[in-house]
Amino acid sequence: MNPFLELGIREEVVNAISELGFEKPSEIQEKAIPVLLTGNDDFVGLAQTGTGKTAAFGLPLLEQLDFSQKHPQALILCPTRELCLQISKDLEKFAKYVDNVHVVAVYGGANISDQLRQIRRGVQIVVATPGRMLDIIGRNAIDFSNVKYVVLDEADEMLNMGFKEDINNILSETPDEKKTWLFSATMPAEVRRIAKNYMTDPVELTVGTKNTGNANIEHHYYLIKAKDKYAAFKRIVDSNPDIFGIVFCRTKIETQDIAEALIKDGYNADSLHGDLSQQQRDKVMKRYRDRSLQLLIATDVAARGIDVSDVTHVINFSLPDETENYTHRSGRTARAGKTGISLSLVNVKELSKIRHLEKIIGKPFEKKQVPQGAEVCEKQLFSIVKKIENVEVNDEQISPFLPAIMENLESLSKEDIIKRFASLEFNRFLDYYKNAPDLNIEARDGGREDRGDRRDGRSREGSKGYTRLFMNLGSVDEFSRGDMLGFICNNANISGKSIGKIDLKGVFTFFEVQDAEVEKVFQGFQGVDYNGRQVRIEVSGETRGEGRSDRGGRSRGGDRGGRREGGYRGGDRGGRREGGYGGGERSGRREGGFSGERRDRGERSSNGGGFRDFSGKRKESKSKY
Ligand code: ADP
Ligand code: MG
Repeated sequence: MNPFLELGIREEVVNAISELGFEKPSEIQEKAIPVLLTGNDDFVGLAQTGTGKTAAFGLPLLEQLDFSQKHPQALILCPTRELCLQISKDLEKFAKYVDNVHVVAVYGGANISDQLRQIRRGVQIVVATPGRMLDIIGRNAIDFSNVKYVVLDEADEMLNMGFKEDINNILSETPDEKKTWLFSATMPAEVRRIAKNYMTDPVELTVGTKNTGNANIEHHYYLIKAKDKYAAFKRIVDSNPDIFGIVFCRTKIETQDIAEALIKDGYNADSLHGDLSQQQRDKVMKRYRDRSLQLLIATDVAARGIDVSDVTHVINFSLPDETENYTHRSGRTARAGKTGISLSLVNVKELSKIRHLEKIIGKPFEKKQVPQGAEVCEKQLFSIVKKIENVEVNDEQISPFLPAIMENLESLSKEDIIKRFASLEFNRFLDYYKNAPDLNIEARDGGREDRGDRRDGRSREGSKGYTRLFMNLGSVDEFSRGDMLGFICNNANISGKSIGKIDLKGVFTFFEVQDAEVEKVFQGFQGVDYNGRQVRIEVSGETRGEGRSDRGGRSRGGDRGGRREGGYRGGDRGGRREGGYGGGERSGRREGGFSGERRDRGERSSNGGGFRDFSGKRKESKSKY
């Protein structure tokens, strides 16, 4: 008999989860389900990430609720919109063969009227982030008087995010007799306090050792100089051609910077952080899930609880401030019994943090060497060979061209042809890593890499007489090139003729502006806000560095290399960056303070009229995550 049936889950649900590949319950499910099915107790479940907590509370809920009634009977609170969507989707999947199950996902950043409509139509399960939930409660748009179960998922993170008051207020709307089920990966004192305040004699279950990472995760660290971090990171990525990773940064600014630098360097990467609109986040997540992105650069909060299967690497570009977040980060890999690597890039000063983490996860980190240039090249070469070996040949499509191809290559031996095909991609790695220094800290001169890093060979300098600027809005914000042109001209109050090339990318745009008009652009966009995001304009890092001759004394390759590896723009952020990427050379460079100060000034709506409604709405969050 199916073990879920034995636990007391009904056949329709068992059939649905079998289709999802659930053969037997995970440990937390096996232990929690019987307790929760009685419906008699408050409950605290502690289990590391990726152990199946959603089903541990979701399956019992599907047994307990009366789906012939259409009022809310269960409320699930979770910290982020992504998690909210994920949980509601999971529940719908579990309930695929159960009739009349209605789940609504209630989260900020999306149209509230759709959510209200769904609630009015009748729902039994509400999955919500606290802010939006309170909003709806405030509108008297939901009746919680029949709620029997409240689930607090990722309770520790909700507290970290400052939702304590909100949770208080929401819970006070629910009946006293309801049962509260709290799930968390860790149990800091705050969570314990919540359990004490809101629960009566909860049944407490711990699966695995508290705070311990998943046994299938290998923990690695690389010891490097702070300034070499980006270069080392790239080497690690380059030596893992099949990497599918999440890169964690501490702040959204760092997240964006790294994503931008990576995109410039030709990688499939994008960032996920609290400053993106709901739509942008959904798009980024979809691209990552679909694997059109290889690297997702995220803040702790934005990536919390995200369940994407087959993540190969979690990369701690910066170690988290809160050690507990390390467990959450590394839990994004090695999901559902798979294996994964969590790696950290640290400098000597941060070594003590590694020692501390070792104590927390209860196992040692392995010290790894940043691969040497030659090793990276070898890895890439064999990856290419494998690709050639496995590529799918479409005989029908290619056959008409074959005679001509054969004729062209006739004079080459098989060996020559192989060499050439492999070189096609390989050469750029050879070029890049030619003379690449050892980045490991033992190296006497932890030297800088040469700057020849044009993975795609394109030049990025602005045209003559133009300055290339960067803006943090792009095609995912639904701009066409025409829209963008209008947006720039309206705000800067300049003519379209002053604008050169517009290079519209996913989450950002490069555009050229006649040198004489550059200042107007900066003036015009001061304090401008688009869909709740501060519009950020900066001189494209490379144009500044390379396109100008007035810098003098910059001929030494090493000097330039350092900046490149940093790859981030913005000396204006120098102060915030203790890590000091790219070296002091850059700090203070952004004298004019293009973005830094501006950001803090009041918001101004930027309705330039004409093209679209660009009027900004109030920013939802000012958090740096
Ligand atoms: P957690 O909330 O503990 O971090 P999730 O509930 O998100 O974990 O589950 C992690 C992954 O494991 C999901 O992809 C889920 O579909 C899968 N999963 C959960 N339970 C089982 C099971 N019993 N068998 C196989 N896969 C499972
Ligand atoms: Mg979860």
